[in-house]
Amino acid sequence: MNNNYIANRSKGKMKSDILKIGAMAKADKALGNHVIDATIGVFLNDDKSINTVPAVIDNLNNNVTKNVGYAPITGYPAFKEGLLKWYLKDQYEKRINEYYIPFGATLGGTGALSIAFNIFLDPSQVVLLPSIMWGNYKLIAKKAGLKHDTYQLFNSEGNFNITNLCTKIEEYSGSQSNILIVLNDPCQNPTGYSLSDEEHLRLIKKLNKLSEKVNITVIYDIAYLDYDGNNKQVHRIFNNLFNNEIKFLPVFAASCSKVFGMYGFRVGAIFTFVKDEELASNITSAIESQIRGTYSSPNGPALSCLGNALLGEDIDKLSNEIYTNTLTLKVRTTYFIDKLNEANIKHLPYKSGFFVCLPCSDAYDICEKLKEQHTYLIPIADDIVRIAVCSLNISEIDELVMVLKEVM
Ligand code: PLP
Repeated sequence: MNNNYIANRSKGKMKSDILKIGAMAKADKALGNHVIDATIGVFLNDDKSINTVPAVIDNLNNNVTKNVGYAPITGYPAFKEGLLKWYLKDQYEKRINEYYIPFGATLGGTGALSIAFNIFLDPSQVVLLPSIMWGNYKLIAKKAGLKHDTYQLFNSEGNFNITNLCTKIEEYSGSQSNILIVLNDPCQNPTGYSLSDEEHLRLIKKLNKLSEKVNITVIYDIAYLDYDGNNKQVHRIFNNLFNNEIKFLPVFAASCSKVFGMYGFRVGAIFTFVKDEELASNITSAIESQIRGTYSSPNGPALSCLGNALLGEDIDKLSNEIYTNTLTLKVRTTYFIDKLNEANIKHLPYKSGFFVCLPCSDAYDICEKLKEQHTYLIPIADDIVRIAVCSLNISEIDELVMVLKEVM
């Protein structure tokens, strides 16, 4: 006998995990220190309470214990309808008649990504991730038995690097019959980059061409979608796909954490739009068996509350509340970017969303030095520091810029 109970595939520690650095910031604060904590991707109000959506909270308060049974494997139909209506707005009827829409309610966006990684590639195949990314993709890939490679997120002009992504697809199309790509857009974590329509349309064209040789699935990670543009209109990402011929498979990994303020309830969804009935049925079966064989069914009480809220009479109120939240974030991030520019501190291309990234020579060293000043940021790579502006108020932003000026 020995102590080696853990199977090889489950060995290994997580490196520089965001939650761990966040916990350090909290511990520092508990010691009575004045702490700037810009570690975790949770949108906080100025008073540090979690930014939520009152219409969603009301529904949870009134209904969360009314439906405590097991949900169907892929979630309640009302949740599917509510979420798709949220994304598709007045195009909902048209699109549900035009497409089959395989759909699964998941445990957050993370659950949706995990399902996608498991059902679109076989073990040992390579998923293509952005070079600057939410690090958890790598762990989700590893747990799905996948390897990963990265495509360069930006080209030398600071725009989305379509050329490098296509080169990577060509490289792997020789050895893999299926290619899986993650595109975290809009409001990319950690840069805050969003593809312009022109970039997205060019990407679609290129992917269509490459799809003549190999099956390509693009996972659109839309965890932050409503923080880009105006949430009253169908997001342009959908319009660009609906208004063009698409020869690859676009799959959406949706999260109800960031937009609906339901972080801990673990609600999200995986869905796609396809015209082929057999493909739709196969995708649905794959989603179902993945859910059933991992956690059996999603969080029924939370799904039914959000479904009620999205289909209820107060939908305009809910939508206005989310719009107000997005404006609050915009004011904060615009202020931060202006302050960085005034202080001559470089940042990576930013359009919208929770985070801003600073390029630097040694991110780990800088983050250690900042900790001495009770300031907690995330070294996202050797040469990039991530700042969760979503969790800072204006006076903290002022303080942070002062500290950054000193340390960087
Ligand atoms: N995708 C991105 C880019 C994220 O930043 C996150 C969370 O931080 C998620 C997906 C998953 O969020 P959740 O699992 O809470 O829905």
